[in-house]
Amino acid sequence: MSQDTRLATPATIDTDALVIGAGPAGLFQVFQLALQGIRSHVVDALPHAGGQCVQLYGDKPIYDIPGIPLCTGRELVQQLLQQIAPLQARLHLSQQVTQLQRQDDGRWHAMTTAGQAFSARTVFIAAGVGAFVPKALKVAGIEDLAPGQLHYHPAELGMVHGQATVIHGGDEEAVAAAIAAAGQASATYLLYRRDVFQAPAALLERLQALRDSGAIQVLIGQITAVQADGGQLRSLQWMDGEGQEHALPLQQLIVCLGISPRLGPVSDWGLALERKQLVVDPATQATDAAGIYAVGDIVHYPGKRKLILCGFHEATMAAFAAAEYLQGEKPLLQYTTTSARLHAILGVYHPQD
Ligand SMILES: Cc1cc2nc3c(=O)[nH]c(=O)nc-3n(C[C@H](O)[C@H](O)[C@H](O)COP(=O)(O)OP(=O)(O)OC[C@H]3O[C@@H](n4cnc5c(N)ncnc54)[C@H](O)[C@@H]3O)c2cc1C
Repeated sequence: MSQDTRLATPATIDTDALVIGAGPAGLFQVFQLALQGIRSHVVDALPHAGGQCVQLYGDKPIYDIPGIPLCTGRELVQQLLQQIAPLQARLHLSQQVTQLQRQDDGRWHAMTTAGQAFSARTVFIAAGVGAFVPKALKVAGIEDLAPGQLHYHPAELGMVHGQATVIHGGDEEAVAAAIAAAGQASATYLLYRRDVFQAPAALLERLQALRDSGAIQVLIGQITAVQADGGQLRSLQWMDGEGQEHALPLQQLIVCLGISPRLGPVSDWGLALERKQLVVDPATQATDAAGIYAVGDIVHYPGKRKLILCGFHEATMAAFAAAEYLQGEKPLLQYTTTSARLHAILGVYHPQD
């Protein structure tokens, strides 16, 4: 599987299948589609695959995956990625699908926040509890900033070179960003409401050393406003624990307030919803729009259970239904154990084939 994390790819990608969400249901959807001879592209808002399993409980044990007595969330995702590695799906990370519209020819046009457009014959919505996106800083003046000065992904740290930089947050990502910025920025401030940071001991030791040397200044308080001049970030206003307001000149602001799921655009695509879940026919996982299927935690049908193995079953049902929709006839049921056709798809060799 190749990964594409570039910010903008102008050419529209034509595909038989677009999978929205790279959680466990979306990843297994790729596998089941491939068994039907359908190649897919996958989009996820996170910079990594795995959905809730990695984002919410990566190191915690799971005991109810059939045939796997115990694995962590991260280990399960590694196995799912290994399972689809030979299948030539493409993963487009760090971008949210915001638009989904029917084209005149019956295909679906999708657009992501990174500017990538897709024209897909079928779409599989595996959006779980919503797109995992960074929590936004909501203070006066923030909407006046031009792009390039406010960052929600510390991966954009290259921008801080020689510039006064504020990192806002108290978790591991914020601490790591402050340490990385200290080597590049003209001045580095770590601003958080408490002088308590949640990060591994080694990072906290490094932070302390940089505080002691003056390379990082820690400010305890909250941002109340930002000031821009012609769109250029000039300073921020912050309030300390005693309620005193301060002004701090800066050029770059990196916000690390955590990541939370937002159902967001999925509810704007005109598909039938019940209590914020997509209504599907459990025999096919079809939504009320031709060519759009939904699987995993995002769906509603009588008896639905939000469990990983239910998502796996749903992905299988959706792949069979989509194969019939695309190919115009019911696909044969074939076993991976014995089918030479499936062995060829999976890239495995059996002497009897
Ligand atoms: C603490 C915890 C423990 C759990 N333990 C278990 C357990 O032991 N056993 C079990 O079976 N289940 C467990 N679950 C539930 C299980 O994690 C979910 O059922 C499963 O993750 C659902 O998979 P999914 O692929 O449907 O959705 P998710 O895992 O939520 O993945 C959806 C993905 O879609 C992406 N996405 C959404 N919208 C968009 C968009 N518009 N554009 C781009 N990307 C988008 C999101 O960023 C996300 O990565 C647990 C859940 C939690 C929170």
